[in-house]
Amino acid sequence: MDILTDTPVTAPRIPARARLIPAMARGFLNRCPHCGQGLLFERFLKVRPECESCGLATGSHRADDLPPYLVIFLVGHLVGYLMLTFEMEYDVPLWLSLTLWPTLTLALAGGLMQPMKGAVVGLQYAFGMHGFDRLPRRQEQQTPPHTDGTHHGSADSPSAAARLGGV
Ligand SMILES: [Zn+2]
Repeated sequence: MDILTDTPVTAPRIPARARLIPAMARGFLNRCPHCGQGLLFERFLKVRPECESCGLATGSHRADDLPPYLVIFLVGHLVGYLMLTFEMEYDVPLWLSLTLWPTLTLALAGGLMQPMKGAVVGLQYAFGMHGFDRLPRRQEQQTPPHTDGTHHGSADSPSAAARLGGV
């Protein structure tokens, strides 16, 4: 326990930010990585400019080519393994090989592209990359104002950040 007290305690830039795995899982399931409520995509691979539920600016992501790289890596290894195994173990007719493997490859690649892009957006959000280094606009607006007449600093002060994080 003494080792833990020696490490410097630094407040995260966004205390309410979801952790990596939940954020990626939300993105994978076409949900906003921050709140998990609003939809992430407005079309197949078109990310909404902002979350309709919490206002997180999701349009600033830079997923770029990472989702297709990951899909190619996954599907290539899976279909390649299955193809090799079946062709070596069984006497598969040529017509079946020519229809099954391309169909399976296209179905898996098409089906995984949107979830994989969502997961990459969730990853960028969890690490605060690009435009994800700020709180969602609506969460900033919902910060309760000081009613006692005293001024404790700006809305992005550590006390306000701690209140938003619920700690
Ligand atoms: Zn949201």
